[in-house]
Amino acid sequence: MLSADARRRCEAVLRDFTLPFPLTLESLLEAARGFHGRPITLHRDEFPASIERPCGLWWRDEDGDHIWVAPTFTGSQEVHAFAHELGHLFLGHPPVSLGHQQAEVETPATTFKWLSPRFLSGDLLGVRTRAHSSHRDPQYVANEGEAEGFASLLRRKAAFQARDRHVDPLLNQLNNSI
Ligand SMILES: [Zn+2]
Repeated sequence: MLSADARRRCEAVLRDFTLPFPLTLESLLEAARGFHGRPITLHRDEFPASIERPCGLWWRDEDGDHIWVAPTFTGSQEVHAFAHELGHLFLGHPPVSLGHQQAEVETPATTFKWLSPRFLSGDLLGVRTRAHSSHRDPQYVANEGEAEGFASLLRRKAAFQARDRHVDPLLNQLNNSI
């Protein structure tokens, strides 16, 4: 349940954000790029199996913003995970920290060059994943709830707009001519 403040923040972002139709991961990525005005790169690599797997991640480097969505996700699940990370981005939450040295990770995570060994060892992962943990920073919990609320509101708004689009234009014309 979103607090009134959090809900207002989400709605303020969504008011200015033109939702694509139909809502897919690809269409939402394009819309987010246009809205953000900075590059957003989508990643779908396999996550190293040795560590707790998140649903999505957002981090930032000198090239722009990067969002990773679990490659096993499809359909509304991938849209939701991506929208959740967009929530973090557009609501001004802190991105995943890559650590000071963005050192190349040795096997098995060769495709995860962007993640620092510290991150992969689990130090930072607990700060950003949606996995359950008994010990959490209250600000982290609030941010997660807000990003989750943002994703839900975005999808609800898109569904609402899609319903309007389903009105048959011919039928509409007929109705208007009567
Ligand atoms: Zn999150």
